[in-house]
Amino acid sequence: MSAPVPNPGILDIHAYVGGEAHAPGASRLIRLASNEGALGPSPKAIAAYTAVAGQMHRYPDGGSKALRAGLGRRFGLDAERIVCGNGSDDVLQLLTRAYAGVGDEVLHTVHGFAIYPISARFAGATPVAAPERDLKTDVDALLARVTPRTRVIFIANPNNPTGSYLNKDELRRLHAGLPENVLLVIDAAYAEYVDAPDYTDGADLVDEFSNVVMTRTFSKIFALGGLRLGWAYCPAAVADVLNRVRGPFNVASSAQAAGLAALEDVEFLERSRRHNTQVRGWFVEQVRALGLVVHPSVANFVLISFAEQAGERADAEGARQLLKSRGILVRQVGSYGLPHCLRVTIGLEDEMRAVVDGLADWVNGK
Ligand code: PMP
Repeated sequence: MSAPVPNPGILDIHAYVGGEAHAPGASRLIRLASNEGALGPSPKAIAAYTAVAGQMHRYPDGGSKALRAGLGRRFGLDAERIVCGNGSDDVLQLLTRAYAGVGDEVLHTVHGFAIYPISARFAGATPVAAPERDLKTDVDALLARVTPRTRVIFIANPNNPTGSYLNKDELRRLHAGLPENVLLVIDAAYAEYVDAPDYTDGADLVDEFSNVVMTRTFSKIFALGGLRLGWAYCPAAVADVLNRVRGPFNVASSAQAAGLAALEDVEFLERSRRHNTQVRGWFVEQVRALGLVVHPSVANFVLISFAEQAGERADAEGARQLLKSRGILVRQVGSYGLPHCLRVTIGLEDEMRAVVDGLADWVNGK
């Protein structure tokens, strides 16, 4: 008797490991390992979630119509070309499996989001990692790796875990260098945090070209990660494909209701954005003053590199352990090829003060 065998590529997948959620023994917990919105969800989103609880015996609207209309209004997009999913992970997986298969290649940057190579292998395709330059997406390196077998390219903009972004001109240069049959997926999970004037979430390219998709999430600034809600803005033909392959009821009614309310609470969103910019600026200054290297970030997390620290305690893992002993959870990003780095989510002021105190003690060898 032989056991069932999974499809080619699946056993090459390294299962996604999320940020830690527990610090046994610590008297408090400060969770800064998963880039969740610091202020939590909008109270209006919580109220909307509660309001639909009595209807949980009903199937959700399979087409997420009201939510898509809300997204269209809020961002000035064609709601007919929006497809919602069970987190943006869901949408990214569907896109990969719909457009790449056995013998094809899926291109991403070497320190890109972990789901890209996972979804490529799930599709039976080969993930190809292009090098970055100074922890930034390198357009030339990506274009140099496009082959006749390339089907999909993923760019996280801004990128997780580096926090860097590709500006409008560079994004257009990347697109211009691609064959028309290659799908460019611009993953703009952290778009709402960016205030750089030369940034675009990529929706303008979606409107212009038939081979560009933008994905977004409610898990970050909208702080609804627990509800799993993401979406894609697509050319009509790609939206049609996603609607054929997605689960018929792939977004829970609670997620649709809370997402729409969060979207409409513009004041809360602005407060979250301002909070992030202010606290991130303060935190980066404090950590640099300790002699540590902090990479510039436009998102709600920063990457701290320990490689250039002299001495035996120059060790990201040691710093992570010290923080964890105090109940502070941050991410050591070895699974992104950066074992000498810690990624720290921007949280509340007192949470970030606790991180600075912990890092100061670590630097001073306490
Ligand atoms: N893209 C990027 C760049 C991310 O960092 C994340 C979450 N860590 C996601 C997509 C997935 O987010 P979700 O599935 O929660 O929408």
